[in-house]
Amino acid sequence: MALPVPTLAPRPSLAVLGLQERFPVRRAFCIGRNYAAHAREMGFDPDREPPFFFMKTAEAIVPVEPGQTAEIAYPSGTRDYHHEAELIVAIGRGGRDIPESEALLHVFGYAVGLDMTRRDLQAEAKKLGRPWEIGKSADQSGPAGPITRGATLDIKGHIRLAVNGAVRQDSTLAAMIWSIPEQIAIISRYFELHAGDLIFTGTPEGVDAVMRGDTMEVSVDGLERIRVAVV
Ligand code: MN
Repeated sequence: MALPVPTLAPRPSLAVLGLQERFPVRRAFCIGRNYAAHAREMGFDPDREPPFFFMKTAEAIVPVEPGQTAEIAYPSGTRDYHHEAELIVAIGRGGRDIPESEALLHVFGYAVGLDMTRRDLQAEAKKLGRPWEIGKSADQSGPAGPITRGATLDIKGHIRLAVNGAVRQDSTLAAMIWSIPEQIAIISRYFELHAGDLIFTGTPEGVDAVMRGDTMEVSVDGLERIRVAVV
């Protein structure tokens, strides 16, 4: 028996602080190893590496509503599901070959998020020279908080993650190797950026596993913090 034509799935969207309208998520670009101490804990020398990017599907984005705790399911196929606290850039105006000097004009706002990672599957993919999707784009692997529109970030501001109240990741945005304008400029050389795109800007050191029942709290100074429970 023939199946019916599927209906269009709703696109995930993020709350925007102070506005009724929501931000529809188009794609999620993610930079790898963008904090030196995290590159080292993963066994790499951060000084010898050009930037590289991978993607999560928009389907993996889980909106965290203001003041609420989001729930994400522990995914299948892993025994080592890691948190990666990240600053998210929300693109409000698209473009190709965007110069660094104009990159921030394309930023709609910023949010706090998590690049949840099936570390065991990612490690196997790395070893075998395979793509990272199975490690990086699990269902519900991209919780993302409300967007603060037009925010000016303090580069000395902290990015922090605690699990059940115990701090595991604590660094500053100044520790990013590739700046936000550099990331936008580089991605836009390879892809036309569009309004609705997100960029996950990398995680500092201290990544580690979570279990079912854990609650993560992630913050970046100046932005709305998020709480995410693993169920
Ligand atoms: Mn990451």
